[in-house]
Amino acid sequence: MKVSIDILEEYLHERYGGWAKEEGLFMKLVEEMGEIAEILNMRSGRKSAKSEDLQAELGSELADLIHYAVAIAAINNLDLNEIILQKDKKASIKYHHDTNLEKFIQSKEQL
Ligand SMILES: [Mg+2]
Repeated sequence: MKVSIDILEEYLHERYGGWAKEEGLFMKLVEEMGEIAEILNMRSGRKSAKSEDLQAELGSELADLIHYAVAIAAINNLDLNEIILQKDKKASIKYHHDTNLEKFIQSKEQL
């Protein structure tokens, strides 16, 4: 099963819409960012590792970070799918990339 940004946003809107405050979700997002920093510090040896499977923990904390970032977008009724496409298009022009996300998706759909 694939998770799309659209369906994740819709799901999190149902979960948090109408009661959750963006400040609370943002504090959770920052907390998750700290957890990612801790894992990266363990991986690089700057901090002693508490876990054997830092790769799995990194994935888990990145998923948490995405959860709260998309939840903030959801309760603000932002169309993240469209925003991501537009931002990538602007960045690809600014940084003179040969392609962009929209073209990449189109090339995958043609396969
Ligand atoms: Mg976490």
